[in-house]
Amino acid sequence: MTLDLVIKGGNVVFRDGVRKVDIGVKDEKITCIAEEITEEAKKVIDASGQYVMPGMIDTHVHISEPGRTHWEGFETGSKAMAAGGTTSYVEMPLNALPATINKEALDLKLEAAKNQNYVDYGFYGGLVPENLDKLQELHDAGVLAFKCFLSDITSDVPGDFIHVDDYTMYKGMQKIAEFGGILCIHAENPSVTKKLTEEMVQEGRTSPKDYPDSRPIFTEVDAVQRAILFAKETGCKLHLVHISTSEAIQVILKAKQEGVDVTVESCPHYFAFTAEEVPEIGPRAKCQPPIRKAKDQEKLWQELLEGNIDWLTSDHSPCTEDLKQGNFFEAWGGISGVQNNVDLMFDLAVKQRGLAIEKFVDMIAYNPSQRFNLPYKGEIAVTKDADIILVDPNQSYVVKREDLYYKNKHSAYEGRTINCRVTKTIVRGNIVFDLEQGIIGEPKGKLLNAVK
Ligand SMILES: [Zn+2]
Repeated sequence: MTLDLVIKGGNVVFRDGVRKVDIGVKDEKITCIAEEITEEAKKVIDASGQYVMPGMIDTHVHISEPGRTHWEGFETGSKAMAAGGTTSYVEMPLNALPATINKEALDLKLEAAKNQNYVDYGFYGGLVPENLDKLQELHDAGVLAFKCFLSDITSDVPGDFIHVDDYTMYKGMQKIAEFGGILCIHAENPSVTKKLTEEMVQEGRTSPKDYPDSRPIFTEVDAVQRAILFAKETGCKLHLVHISTSEAIQVILKAKQEGVDVTVESCPHYFAFTAEEVPEIGPRAKCQPPIRKAKDQEKLWQELLEGNIDWLTSDHSPCTEDLKQGNFFEAWGGISGVQNNVDLMFDLAVKQRGLAIEKFVDMIAYNPSQRFNLPYKGEIAVTKDADIILVDPNQSYVVKREDLYYKNKHSAYEGRTINCRVTKTIVRGNIVFDLEQGIIGEPKGKLLNAVK
């Protein structure tokens, strides 16, 4: 039997440690792992001196196609993911038009995504006040999870996403629990953040330095507490997205210990930047919840190092350049970052802070694969999809605009030096990115299917 691919001599990262072994791939799957594979192969990659690990499964990405394709499209977004070591992603139900809140909107997404993705992809369904009767149809149509906003979002644009009231969160959770789904929540207290923002704008306190004061830490903690209480009441599986504070994570940890089925993600930008540094970067580093102060970030690091954060996501939330200009409070809140997240976090967490490398791969791949019912992904193991990345721990590079694949080539990380580098990305055995050649071949990304 001729193998399709052999990856030779790399330091392969397993869930229980790193071993120098070869990996054999046939028909998109990992079929053998051995000290030395001597079987014939159509292609051989020499991985010596590099880490070989599962590609990132990013469960929080915004692609605004259709409807706002000029912000980010499936083609450009998935190229950036391939270049950054992400091999699968789950796409958020907002920013595209219409928002993914019923089967018709999901069908538009599925159609737009076809033959454009360089990595594997799946979708969220949105929960909004008007679509309680559409959750089952979205679930039946294959969405991997649901998402709602507690923080204030309203829009004048027809078809745009809006936040839930408490009644909708309650009823939505009841319905999602009936079919065993997961509700993912953006947790910030809506009325406090909204009024504080209005007040500060009126007072002219609109500099980047002022921004964290419009969304104080307790507003995240409050929303997390309420979401957990509702999850307890309804028995709905809960996942809290882009948590930015240790205080919120402690509340989640306590709920876990009490048996609540809750998980939590955080994002590289909360570890890469401090509020003190944001004024220099400007609106490119604006997001919600905001980048926190250095002393708070230090506490968040402790949570990560102690294993209290289940996984990492990019929250890649791109927009056109003009929306990132001017007044910090008026600029679009969302960070373009997906292309540099794996190596950035490897540098910050593993190289600089000593996180065990096997814990790192749990946080980028294994843990989300388990929570989102994708047991065929997330790990270097025989029978799993051959979604594999190579990371060179000894290369360093500076993030440059011209190297970004995004539709709009700006990023919060421009100019930053990252002290390791993704050098190859393989999706189901196909090499889709190579540092020398760039993106390779045609888009062959497949739709992710949850195994229940
Ligand atoms: Zn988001």
